Amino acid sequence: MPIKSGGETSVENLALACVSCSLHKSAKEFVLDPETNKFVPIFNPRQQDWADHFQWVGFRMTGLTATGRATIETLKQNRPIILAIREEEQILGRHP
Ligand SMILES: [Zn+2]
Repeated sequence: MPIKSGGETSVENLALACVSCSLHKSAKEFVLDPETNKFVPIFNPRQQDWADHFQWVGFRMTGLTATGRATIETLKQNRPIILAIREEEQILGRHP
């Protein structure tokens, strides 16, 4: 929960993320689903299960729900550098 919405700078409220994901998420709590063009809650890994909202199609993440689609789009989870990293990780046996 962002500070602007009353979130605290406590371990329970902070999340470890790469710089890119952190900047793309920013203080967003609701994000635009590209399929329905409606704002939906961004994926919350503490309260939701990844597999309920996402799946792998090769190296690409695809959304199974509005939240999944909107989170992928907002965090740019299929940008070329991430796809290249996932490909390298698969060679090393670490993806998915
Ligand atoms: Zn990231």
